[in-house]
Amino acid sequence: MYPFTYTRADSVAKAAEALAADGDAKLLAGGQTLLPAMKLRLNAPSQLIDLSRLAELRGIGVGAGDVTIGATTPHADVAAHAEIARSIAGLHELAGQIGDPAVRHKGTIGGSIANNDPAADYPAACLGLGATIVTNKREISADDFFKGLFETALGDGEIIVKVRFPKPAASGYAKFRNPASRFALVGVFVARTGAGARVAVTGAGSGGVFRWKEAEAALSSNWSEGAVAGLKASPAGLNSDIHADAEYRAHLIGVMTKRAVAAAK
Ligand SMILES: Cc1cc2nc3c(=O)[nH]c(=O)nc-3n(C[C@H](O)[C@H](O)[C@H](O)COP(=O)(O)OP(=O)(O)OC[C@H]3O[C@@H](n4cnc5c(N)ncnc54)[C@H](O)[C@@H]3O)c2cc1C
Repeated sequence: MYPFTYTRADSVAKAAEALAADGDAKLLAGGQTLLPAMKLRLNAPSQLIDLSRLAELRGIGVGAGDVTIGATTPHADVAAHAEIARSIAGLHELAGQIGDPAVRHKGTIGGSIANNDPAADYPAACLGLGATIVTNKREISADDFFKGLFETALGDGEIIVKVRFPKPAASGYAKFRNPASRFALVGVFVARTGAGARVAVTGAGSGGVFRWKEAEAALSSNWSEGAVAGLKASPAGLNSDIHADAEYRAHLIGVMTKRAVAAAK
């Protein structure tokens, strides 16, 4: 390792102050991405500002029409939450499929979406449900938040505080996972909302998570597996790597969309 300073923040405001004072500092949440990246020397912050013990960032709140998840809430808490299982079934399913138990107990929703790995699961839930990302400075709609590979709308010194998910009429998630890492080769989140269907795809796009508009139109007029049975996603702009080529990922998008609709409740 190389030397760096460790700071345990005792409030979001103090964390923001420390971040503003040191341009090479990084926030630390569950450390499931940042620490391996540091060990590989892909990231070399001068300071780690630890958010993980801030009570104000952790926890799940349930409102009449939405569920709010604090940024440092680990995936395991989301997967175990009875009201999320009842009212946002796709989110419950998704959280329980992230990595393995160790990753689910340390990794956090804020860290996951700030990192915006193109194969991560939570970006699909945020985009598929039309979530709102609340930071220490503003509110950002999921449609405006995910900007590309590992890129988000977060500015310098901006800290995710919580994510607000509207409760849909129905939602589902289906993932074809990489058997080694458990990240998505392709994951599809579907939601039936008052404003029509939303379909978000992770793991496939060369620019990260995206909405599949053709499937949204088909499901908005007929919410059923049959409505998407004949649809084919285009391989243009999809990833090709040692795990799967673009054609195969395009095929998986169709299959996972049907499975997500079948599982939706
Ligand atoms: C073996 C393994 C398997 C995995 N499998 C999956 C999988 O199947 N699906 C999946 O989606 N993920 C998977 N992950 C990733 C995991 O889910 C973590 O959620 C993810 O690594 C980031 O969360 P974290 O809390 O660990 O963030 P950290 O590693 O602590 O931080 C990640 C980044 O986010 C920034 N950050 C953290 N919190 C905030 C905040 N509140 N505001 C602004 N920026 C912030 C940090 O500065 C850093 O840049 C896996 C990880 C491992 C190690």
